[in-house]
Amino acid sequence: MKIAFVGLGNMGGGMAANLVKAGHEVRAFDLSADALAKAGENGCQTFAAAREAVSGADAVVSMLPNGAIVNSVYEADIFGAAPAGAILLDCSTIDVATATKVTAAATAAGYEMVDAPVSGGIAAANAGTLTFMVGGTDAAFTRAEPILAAMGKAVIHAGAAGAGQAAKICNNMLLGIHMIGTCEAFSMAQKLGLDPQTFYDISSVSSGQCWSMTSYCPVPGAGPQSPADNGYQPGFAAALMLKDLKLAMEAAQTAGVDAEMGKRAAELYQAYVNAGNGGVDFSGIIRTL
Ligand code: NAD
Repeated sequence: MKIAFVGLGNMGGGMAANLVKAGHEVRAFDLSADALAKAGENGCQTFAAAREAVSGADAVVSMLPNGAIVNSVYEADIFGAAPAGAILLDCSTIDVATATKVTAAATAAGYEMVDAPVSGGIAAANAGTLTFMVGGTDAAFTRAEPILAAMGKAVIHAGAAGAGQAAKICNNMLLGIHMIGTCEAFSMAQKLGLDPQTFYDISSVSSGQCWSMTSYCPVPGAGPQSPADNGYQPGFAAALMLKDLKLAMEAAQTAGVDAEMGKRAAELYQAYVNAGNGGVDFSGIIRTL
């Protein structure tokens, strides 16, 4: 297929390269000359404007920083420029309301579209092992699925338009909460005289077990290799966790949900980022607890 790819940053760069490896002709655009040059080295065709990249494409994939940018790129550069009938896939993490609005505008302009945010960081984007949670009609999902499968290990239909973003922010709200919980448990265990590895050995096979412990242990030297063993280099930067928690709090308010633990996690990550840790891995919050 001819697939246009807009947004070739930390995540999009690796994803576009995997589409090339799967045999697709990838038509790349990014505002950053460096990102575009790297995409060229990875076998993408590069274009000087998004409108040029998407013209003649069977599908358009976007991986952009936020909802305002997604909305403006689709309105200004994709609708009307991509061929009628192209399938549009936005993989960015954005608010549910904007995702739903952009899909409605796409439908009105004659396109099928899915919101398909990802779980998994830069390493998973490079390795092609992302998990995609997809919102859209059955017909749109059927067309999007094989394209996403070339970049991930799991592609799951979450429901109608916006449902992919809803799944993503609920998942990441839970991640923020259990990372902080894991950090508190390790800090307290240590204050109570337990060796971190011993506590890991016990809790990782007991009812406190969770992903933040067994896949991403926030304590250096305990559990599997993680950013904690690398001076808390990301990984998943605290600023991105805060972004997702803010989106979750926005959605909670819209839905009339009183997410007390999510709210507290957002406050703690806000304080952590305000203290200059936005670029530090999110598990580094253990150093403040
Ligand atoms: P990034 O900042 O590295 O990449 C974004 C890219 O978009 C940049 O290269 C930027 O130049 C480009 N861009 C911005 N405006 C543009 C425009 N108008 N036209 C074309 N290109 C434009 O960010 P990232 O880490 O790759 O994240 C992308 C998305 O993925 C975000 O929504 C983020 O929340 C989500 N995400 C990131 C991670 C992660 O670990 N980094 C994990 C899961 C999801």
